[in-house]
This record gives sequence, structure tokens and C-alpha cells, in this order.
Amino acid sequence: MPGFERFGDQERKEVQDVLDNGVLMRYGFDGMRNGHWKAKELERELERTLQTKHAQLVSSGTAAVTVALASAGIGAGDEVIMPTFTFVASFEAIMMLGAVPVLVDIDDTLAVDPKAVEAAITPKTKAVMVVQMCGSMGRMEELEAICKNNKLLLIEDACQAIGATFNNKPLGSIGDLGCFSFDFVKTITSGEGGAVVTNNDSYYTHTDQYSDHGHDHIGSDRGAETHPYLGYNFRISELHAAVGLAQIKRLPEFLEVQKRNFTVLREALSAVPEVTFRTVPKGGEESYAFLSFFLPDLECARKASKGLKEAGVDGCFHYYDNNWHYVREWSHLKNIKSLYPVSAEVKKGLAYLETKTFEQSDHYIARNISCLIKLSWTEEEVKRRAELMVEAIKGAL
Ligand SMILES: *Cc1c(COP(=O)(O)O)cnc(C)c1O
Repeated sequence: MPGFERFGDQERKEVQDVLDNGVLMRYGFDGMRNGHWKAKELERELERTLQTKHAQLVSSGTAAVTVALASAGIGAGDEVIMPTFTFVASFEAIMMLGAVPVLVDIDDTLAVDPKAVEAAITPKTKAVMVVQMCGSMGRMEELEAICKNNKLLLIEDACQAIGATFNNKPLGSIGDLGCFSFDFVKTITSGEGGAVVTNNDSYYTHTDQYSDHGHDHIGSDRGAETHPYLGYNFRISELHAAVGLAQIKRLPEFLEVQKRNFTVLREALSAVPEVTFRTVPKGGEESYAFLSFFLPDLECARKASKGLKEAGVDGCFHYYDNNWHYVREWSHLKNIKSLYPVSAEVKKGLAYLETKTFEQSDHYIARNISCLIKLSWTEEEVKRRAELMVEAIKGAL
């Protein structure tokens, strides 16, 4: 997945433009910037690529999720349904706004199970966050219908799935708000950075203003702008946006290489009858950022994971034992280890986590291995990797 494998002249030129005029900030300084507005240009490119009316850049994917929730008015006392398998950022962003993360099981798509979502809805539920893990997607039709019937917002965390589509719509553009990350290991990278996309005019205005201290961004005199409400600083810099601008133009190239490398590995693993693959809902097209598959049981997956490492096959993750991505090892979140006091309401809202188990999620994550698809592999390297993977997996059965 990482775009950092492919830095070149395009990235250098965009950064040089910014350094030449010296304006590292995305707002203001109109006279000094010689017409260079990298953040604004990248926002237009994102709108075009993701087929949304609006895109707002922010400082990270975590910021994107936080800003998306805030712009939809989610805060104290609200419940947000999220998956057990994600990145800790989902949990952090909900907590940051004083809302309560309600964790639900995932299914064979590796995203939230619509049935589990439905069962978790209470009068306090405001939004469902679907995290499009490892380059693919959840059951979007079912999730959209549940949100519509229950008047809930659908928020898509598509940080790991830029370029994937469902019924020809880019992931991130399907829900009310979509979130992206351009951190160093994502398909498109700007070093650090993120974006919120939406077709809703008022959510967009909120993202634009909230991510910059509530500035109204009306007129050209930053000093004269008013602040309609409280905001924060989640701005991206022109330098980061410049790298992102070069990278987004290369997305089709990155996706093509990912798909080619993915296909070689998937075909090789298909020859092992014990291997099954993550379900991609009908109408879905992955970004091919990862190859995710299931082995018969936990023991086998642990053994295969070890075997892959020993064979030098890097970038394969067995998330069951991982404390960034899966609820089982989130002791710092389950026990709310916070530097500052957390409201009694949130504490009460999270009490369920002390005892709740997630057998269905365990059933999938215990047996799952997801392997990163790199852009820099040569044809020979992909073939060799396929052989080593098959060997390691057979050795673990
Ligand atoms: C990377 C990631 C994030 C956070 O993005 P950062 O830019 O690293 O803050 C959020 N959600 C998911 C699913 C991610 O993979």
C-alpha cells in the first residue's frame, strides 16, 4: 500500500514550488504565494477522484475522524457504533468529543456486521462508523439501509481503502461523511495528513471552519474573519499538501500495481484448499492494498504468521495479538487510562467493555492474516513471495 515507495520528480516539484515562495501555511499570505495553493488544489483533486461535492484537508486521519464527528454535531452523551477491528483512532476520536464508543462485532468482510449494528442501536445512538479495513469494505447496502431506517449518520473511515469502490462509487463518498489518512504508510501519503469528504454543504462548512479555530474563511483578510463557533487547529501545511498533490495524481498507477501484485499472491494461495479469503460484497472492487485470508484455526494462523516472518515475508499481520487494531489487547482503552478525567457519563457508557466478549470477531480475527501489497516489488520478487507464502502456510497446517 505505501505511496512512499514511489517518491519522484513530481513530489519534488510540488514541494519546491512551496519552498520557492516560502508560504508554508494553507490560508492567507495571498501576495507572497505566486498563485500556489497546494492544499486547495489537492482538495479539488480529491473531490474529483472521490466524486464528492466537497473535500476538506486536515492534519491526519485521526483528525479527519474527529472533525467528521464534530461537524455532524456528535458530542457529550451520544453513542457511536464502531467495529472491534479497526485502528485505535476510531475509539480516540469518539472519546475526544465526549461521546461513547459502542463496539460491535465484525463479519467475514472484516468490517462491522450489519446485524450486530442493528442490535446495538439505542435512543442515544447518533452514528454508525464503518471502517473499511485493509483495502475492502463492509456490507454497504445493508449498513446504508439500517442508518436510513433509524435516522443515523453513516460515517466511513476509508483511511485504508482509497481507490476502492462499491457499485462504482468510491469508498468514502457513500456515507454522510468519509475520512481519509495520508500518513506515511497509506496508499497516498503526504507524510502526515488526512481529509474529510462529504456531499452535504453544511457539514462541509463545519469541517472547513472547525479545523481552523472556527475561522469563517470569508473574505481575504484573515485578521478580519469572524468565528461563528469554537474550533481547533487540525490544519494541514502547504508542504504536506504539496506531497499529497503529487501523490493523488499517481493513484491510478498505484492501484494498477497493487492489483497486479495482489492477483499473483491470491492465485498462489488459492491452490491451498485450507485457505479462504475475506468476503468482498457483491458490487465491491477492492483497492488491493492488502491480501486478507483466513486459516482453519488460531493455532494454525499463529504458526503461519511465525513461519512467514522466519521466511522473510514481511508485512503480514495476524491482528489477533496486536494492540493497535483489535479490541482483545486494548487494555488501555477498556480500563480508560486517560491523562485527564473522563466524564462519569462516558465511564458509565463504557462499563460494558469490562465484561463483554466478542466471539464472532474472535472467530474471524483469530484466523485472519492480512498481507500488505507493496508497489516496489519486481515481478520476480512477487513470484518468490508467493512461493514462500504457500510454503509457510502449508507448514502451519
Ligand atoms: C491510519 C488510520 C487512521 C488514522 O490515520 P492517521 O493519519 O495515522 O492519524 C484511522 N483509521 C484507520 C482505519 C487507519 O488505518
